[in-house]
Amino acid sequence: MHQRYRTKGIFLKKRNQGEADRIFTVFTEQFGKIEVAGRAIRKITSKLRSGADVFYLSELEFIQGKHYKTLTDAVVIDRFRDIRENHQKTEAARKITGILDSLITKEEKDDKVWQLLLESFGFIENSESEKILPDFGGITAGKESCSWQTGNCKSKIVYYFLWNLLSVSGYSPELYKCSVCASKLLPETFFFVPQEGGVVCWQCFSNNDLKSGLWFNIHTDTVKILRVYLKEGWDIAGKLRIATDIRQNLSEISDNYCDFLRESAP
Ligand SMILES: [Zn+2]
Repeated sequence: MHQRYRTKGIFLKKRNQGEADRIFTVFTEQFGKIEVAGRAIRKITSKLRSGADVFYLSELEFIQGKHYKTLTDAVVIDRFRDIRENHQKTEAARKITGILDSLITKEEKDDKVWQLLLESFGFIENSESEKILPDFGGITAGKESCSWQTGNCKSKIVYYFLWNLLSVSGYSPELYKCSVCASKLLPETFFFVPQEGGVVCWQCFSNNDLKSGLWFNIHTDTVKILRVYLKEGWDIAGKLRIATDIRQNLSEISDNYCDFLRESAP
């Protein structure tokens, strides 16, 4: 007999396989990100259907085979009805699950990531979309966006989730002192240098050979927003107003920092 495992999990994505199977990617409380097969789940008689779908929070049971995990039970805890029915909320949830799926590559239990995902789904579900996710615009036309990229999306929860995910994964950027000389940052011209792990003052930037690598201008308001995102909860972070040019700067830094981290990952 195979051992059975139980855990809570949020379904991130699904793809069809064969005639009636479906492979799910799920972020679970006990095992981190897993892939699990729903055998014959696309048949109308499948008892798994009611508990396994994208954006469901469910109690799962699976067995671990030699190569694959097979879903044996799925009981829904929360269907996040608003996320499923409100287009803006659906897009925000799609974006954060795409980011999570792209940046988390290992199957490993991670309480902090689990809590962040659960909370973020709660924030999206329970927020008034006009107030908390204002003028959500999806993806800027012309820019083909990869799943881990914000693509200048207007939903603040996406940036909040991304930077907190980086932070709990050990990639919190330096935002209070210069990453090179460690002196306190004064309001002046800053640079964001991924290989230095954060913000660099202009003296260090002009004295060091940093210009030959990857660097970006980072607006002082972008630095302030990131400080709030990483220090305060969504109650405060969600109320911040972000000007269009600052959002573009935030998006550019976010996407390029993620690119850099993905490329330099072991
Ligand atoms: Zn410096």
